[in-house]
Amino acid sequence: MTALPPFERHRPASVEEATELLERHGEDAVAYVGGSELFLLFKLGFAEYAHVVDLKGIEELRGIERRDGELRIGAAETHRAIERHRTVRAEWPALAAMEREVGNLRVRTQGSIGGNLCFADPHSDPATFLLAMDGVVEARRGGTDARRIPIGEFVIGPFENALADGELLTSVVIPALAPGAAVAHRKFVLHERPAITVSCHLRLDDGALADVRLAVGSAGVVAVRAAGAEELLGDTAVNGLDEPLERAGELTADAADPVEDANGSVAYKRHLVGVLSVRAARAAVAEARGEENQPEAED
Ligand SMILES: Cc1cc2nc3c(=O)[nH]c(=O)nc-3n(C[C@H](O)[C@H](O)[C@H](O)COP(=O)(O)OP(=O)(O)OC[C@H]3O[C@@H](n4cnc5c(N)ncnc54)[C@H](O)[C@@H]3O)c2cc1C
Repeated sequence: MTALPPFERHRPASVEEATELLERHGEDAVAYVGGSELFLLFKLGFAEYAHVVDLKGIEELRGIERRDGELRIGAAETHRAIERHRTVRAEWPALAAMEREVGNLRVRTQGSIGGNLCFADPHSDPATFLLAMDGVVEARRGGTDARRIPIGEFVIGPFENALADGELLTSVVIPALAPGAAVAHRKFVLHERPAITVSCHLRLDDGALADVRLAVGSAGVVAVRAAGAEELLGDTAVNGLDEPLERAGELTADAADPVEDANGSVAYKRHLVGVLSVRAARAAVAEARGEENQPEAED
């Protein structure tokens, strides 16, 4: 690892100023929040920019609040701030639990949810979780209104997002759970970043599963919904879940399309995806039945 290359740091106070800076300096400029990905790339010699645009001072990218029944998280908020936030812990406890398992304390204190999604590393907890939650992001460039993008259309490939030039991710919006609904996130980690992430949202309707959304990530190149598994589990009676869940695990492994890497072979990852899908679905059922509480967040 080498020292950071020289650059000029800019601290805009608004999206307008940030867009203007990014446009003025073009390919010589890049935005950042915590810098946990960007400065690592600099240190490794994989990227070099003469101008870095620090987004932390932009008010529009800050704040965590319930608005019109949804949770709105400013893109520059850190994992740690989300994990500890009173409203998140009380009303979106599965989100707090997921954030508490991201990396280590240093990564959670420095890294932002927006940076995680924009960087689009395939090994992402939030990208998987937000897919199951039907989350959307808001993006805006100076002088325009915000546009809403479903998370599945935002993280579009490995290290690839849907932002246009000069556009910033401003917030992440997560709907509230409907009555009788629950979501559970499960992950498996071998090295620093997750090897497998699975999130399951479902609702109990008269003893059967409804609104099943099963998302899987980190195993393949991008997080995806497992449509075949969701269809199979929909309308399944809670008391007869064993066989359908086993089959849903296989279908989720198909959807994940794992790639071989330092975390293991395709077959190994398929096995892990199957196990975690079953665990996530069972945890969501237990949560929806009021049998399982998310662990209390630590201060
Ligand atoms: C050791 C380690 C362990 C980790 N473990 C996990 C884990 O278990 N699970 C997990 O999900 N993640 C994990 N991560 C990833 C971590 O969550 C991200 O590194 C972090 O959230 C990135 O946020 P940042 O603000 O530091 O991003 P930055 O480095 O500041 O930015 C990353 C990229 O996003 C762009 N960007 C950032 N914010 C915006 C914005 N608002 N608008 C437009 N572009 C923007 C930047 O231009 C840059 O290209 C780990 C990382 C490390 C280093």
